[in-house]
Amino acid sequence: MKIEIKNLKKTYGSVTALDNLSVTFENGIYGILGPNGAGKSTMINLITDNISRDGGQILCDGNDILEMGAEFRRLIGYMPQQQNMYNNYSAIGFLKYISSIKGIPSRKAAAEIENLLHIVNLWDARYRKLGGFSGGMKQRVLLAQALLGDPELLILDEPTAGLDPNERIKIRNYIAELSGKRIILFATHVVSDIECIADKIVMLKKGKLVDVGFTQDIIESVEGKVGQIRCNYSELSYLQQKYKAGNVKRTGEGLMLRIVGDELPPEAERVNTDIGLEDVYLYYLA
Ligand code: ADP
Ligand code: MG
Repeated sequence: MKIEIKNLKKTYGSVTALDNLSVTFENGIYGILGPNGAGKSTMINLITDNISRDGGQILCDGNDILEMGAEFRRLIGYMPQQQNMYNNYSAIGFLKYISSIKGIPSRKAAAEIENLLHIVNLWDARYRKLGGFSGGMKQRVLLAQALLGDPELLILDEPTAGLDPNERIKIRNYIAELSGKRIILFATHVVSDIECIADKIVMLKKGKLVDVGFTQDIIESVEGKVGQIRCNYSELSYLQQKYKAGNVKRTGEGLMLRIVGDELPPEAERVNTDIGLEDVYLYYLA
């Protein structure tokens, strides 16, 4: 499958949520990375046709998705950012309901639902009402419903929000296993969620595309722009204001602050190994 977004535009009153966005998705896992308010959910809501646009086009294998309508929606699995849940449904009842909306025949649906409930580790809780679920359990039900029907286009909007570290790792690993002949869009502002699993990174900031490329190439683009600087607590906030600053490490001789930028101060020590997506985020998106 190929999804082409061309000059997509969306405004909310005076706010431009997406500003002439053009990007193409082909099979693989895409990390859609950007700070809160960057336009990730807006882009997703336009692909899933949940909101109206102010300009531009979205094509699926060359066809306009608005003309394809239901035919396109059948290809999508979508995990929304908000947990608007059907609190009176049981987990299994909710998944049956979603499969009927998706038009999956009931016998096929029953087998899929059983498999997915095991995968997201909710089999034992399948008859419990969603209203009593924890945040992490709700996320896992939402992931399961997105996977019903084995969608060719899987869209996950902040899928690990509210999960504990263990659950994050499980969901991430599971998503990694799903790749193959499909497009997976994984929107997040948390770098560690996508660092190891995304084939490509799409960076959004203030409604604009900053860059898109293979994860490794994007990381290499900040080589030579990363350094660390030794400091004490009283110098820390000044340095954090002056430079794009990341993690602070405590060392035997005080603090070590990570900084990125085109021009690093002479007292900073260059970092040449160990550069990663956190540095990319700081450089392009912070
Ligand atoms: P992200 O998902 O990357 O955090 P969003 O797409 O939710 O970003 O938001 C992009 C911008 O559009 C933000 O400035 C946000 O405040 C604005 N926005 C999003 N939805 C609405 C809405 N329903 N009404 C008004 N402004 C909105
Ligand atoms: Mg969002």
